[in-house]
Amino acid sequence: METLLNKILKDNKHLTREGKVASYIPALKKANQDDLGICIVDVNGNTYKAGEYNKKFTIQSISKTISLMLAIMDNGEDIVFDKIGMEPTGDAFNSMVKLEMISPSKPLNPMINAGAIAVASLIKGKNADEKFERLLNLFRKISNNNKLNINKEAYLSEKETGDRNRALAYFMKDVGIFDGNVEEILDVYFRQCAIEVNSIDIANIGLFLANRGQIPKTREKVTTESIAKTVKTFMITCGMYNESGQFAIEVGIPAKSGVGGGIMASVPNEMGIGVFGPALNEKGNSIAGYGVLKDLSDKLNLSIF
Ligand code: GLU
Repeated sequence: METLLNKILKDNKHLTREGKVASYIPALKKANQDDLGICIVDVNGNTYKAGEYNKKFTIQSISKTISLMLAIMDNGEDIVFDKIGMEPTGDAFNSMVKLEMISPSKPLNPMINAGAIAVASLIKGKNADEKFERLLNLFRKISNNNKLNINKEAYLSEKETGDRNRALAYFMKDVGIFDGNVEEILDVYFRQCAIEVNSIDIANIGLFLANRGQIPKTREKVTTESIAKTVKTFMITCGMYNESGQFAIEVGIPAKSGVGGGIMASVPNEMGIGVFGPALNEKGNSIAGYGVLKDLSDKLNLSIF
């Protein structure tokens, strides 16, 4: 398997030159454009790795899957989906255009920034610290890595410059999607995006979702099958920004990407895959990471369709 992974990385490495690392969060500019790594963990406890699988990066939007899971565990689906929709947008992840066009106003899904900020407002806890602590502990458990923590520089960099997200949040408060302290809600969101991981960590989280909400190693049931299914379905319909339809056709695996260059994928009942390549295409997906997952899906016949 590792021979195959090394070959796939080699075949896709040239794509890293065709993408660009994210720069709208200043701290992300420091990433090395040429990096490319992968880790696969399967339900039988095997781990396969290649390339820069050990490099750390910030989880960014991949965190939206697990914050959604916690918000549903805290409130139930009815309350969550009363505030946030279930439909793909076809727009960029940080777009605000649809918020004012839909009546009553509601972010279209929890994988775009507006939806994920509304999700952060639903996580239980008496203040931002307690809410984030609960979320971080969940990440530590399902990634099987007790050391997970935030990258402070990335967190502060986004907190300082995240005016687009601030605008989305203040608009949503104004139209009643949530109430409470906007800066506190954004603080939870900015911190969750800044959690630092490597490909192994996101492969483990992907495996946990693939295994229907149970950690294979410890057999601990962290969430229900139904919640894990909802999260994976959003990964298929909305997980790869406004390239989700194309990715579903070409790769066919539930996946979520982030502007830090990570892609987490879950092959139902089989494996979790973590890919890292910070050079992004125009849609915000890791350009070589997309290619790697496409080749892997072709070679191992992983499409769920
Ligand atoms: N923290 C990033 C933002 O809100 C996450 C975006 C992403 O990874 O898609 O812009």
